Amino acid sequence: MKDSASSSTRRKILVVTPDDPAGERLARWLVDSGYELTRYKEARRLVEIATEEQPDLVVVSLEGMSSDDQAKMVTLCSESEVPAPTLVLTKDGDGMTGSMRGGCCLDWMDEATAQEKFVTRVRAMLRVASDARQEPAAAKRDGLTRVYNRRYFDERLDMEIERARRYGRKVSCVMVDIDGFKDVNTAHGHQAGDSVLKVLADVLLSSTRSSDIVARYGGEEFVVILPEAVGNEAAVLAERLRRAFENCGIRFDEGERAVTVSCGVATYPDHASDSATLLRMADSAVFRAKSEGRNRCVVAFSAAEDDFESEAVTAGRILLVEDDDYDRSVASLILRASGYEVVEATDGEVGVSLAKSAHPDLVIIDLQIAGMSGLETTRQIVQMDEMKDIPVVALTVGDVPDNLEELARVGCRGYITKPIDTNMLASQIQLYMKE
Ligand code: GH3
Ligand code: MG
Ligand code: MG
Repeated sequence: MKDSASSSTRRKILVVTPDDPAGERLARWLVDSGYELTRYKEARRLVEIATEEQPDLVVVSLEGMSSDDQAKMVTLCSESEVPAPTLVLTKDGDGMTGSMRGGCCLDWMDEATAQEKFVTRVRAMLRVASDARQEPAAAKRDGLTRVYNRRYFDERLDMEIERARRYGRKVSCVMVDIDGFKDVNTAHGHQAGDSVLKVLADVLLSSTRSSDIVARYGGEEFVVILPEAVGNEAAVLAERLRRAFENCGIRFDEGERAVTVSCGVATYPDHASDSATLLRMADSAVFRAKSEGRNRCVVAFSAAEDDFESEAVTAGRILLVEDDDYDRSVASLILRASGYEVVEATDGEVGVSLAKSAHPDLVIIDLQIAGMSGLETTRQIVQMDEMKDIPVVALTVGDVPDNLEELARVGCRGYITKPIDTNMLASQIQLYMKE
């Protein structure tokens, strides 16, 4: 336990504890382990004091603090304002969960009642902090695109999954693979290919939040970790970045051309319980996106993929008539992720013809489509013999459509409002499917 004392410079710890026997005991444990200590008894001015003292670690005990001070501490930690790695001792782990978002050098443990456990955690945090300081920032980055590299990504994914496990949260992974990149290199040269990689990295960075981790996984594959995503947010993000990249029109010497990506989305713990499986699931989803025609996103299946393939079970086939590319691809992605097979039509005429040939179990029609109107499309579909008992659901704008009676008259079974609530869509559809 004397490792810190034996090193040439002693590690300095700023301890914030109340002036009571528990605080005394904590301080003694640290001194006995060879650390240099500064004690401070309240949360007030902690940031200033830590800035002056430059400790290697801050240990804060919330026990015995006034509730005001506790709240202030949690805020300081969550906003990463304390300029040193911080270990918070608390009985209320749940209260700290939100604060863990701040940075990787914040951690908490149950109120320290066992010397060895406490000192071990202190030592581990000091080691991580020291590694982080010694490693130049460049070592974490990909040389060409400046996003994180594979090594850093692997470490972070393990860490994010561990955190999610501890706090009962989710972590999603979006794998992004450029379509036909070999052809881009062949047609425009390797250097132009490199510029495409840089453009994609920029699109990924500008489409994600600062808490998301964007990395180059290898070659022309990138990956994004979303530690905060809930519900279908990861799938929606994947679709947004796919579209953003497609639309950024990359200029080559030979002229402008769209390059596209295929994305696979997988979430811990829905699709996998460890990082290797999570990546494999995201990768399989990319593979499926490629085999379905590229330039699309696919969400991993919850069941093992092979089982799914062999049983080929779907929750039903949905015909989706929607002319807005974004709405159509997001709705389609979410419905596919829920096990539906989706047949897409971009206008009323195609919708009517697919209603005849594709044998859908349900039809979703956007009422505001260009060309033949949504109402007319609905009327024609409902009148077909083969569509007699098949529910048709309208996509409408506004809380309650002002033409509700008209909708009923043409044979609409119900409506779903836009903008589509991606977390509700599958359950809304399921209601109509069951009727
Ligand atoms: P798919 O749509 O199936 O993904 O086809 P693809 O051609 O994109 O995929 P494939 O995996 O066959 O080829 C990837 C290509 O990416 C091959 C390789 O030369 C190129 N590549 C990998 N790293 C780099 C790089 O750093 N710069 C450039 N310019 N090309 C790279
Ligand atoms: Mg590839
Ligand atoms: Mg590729």
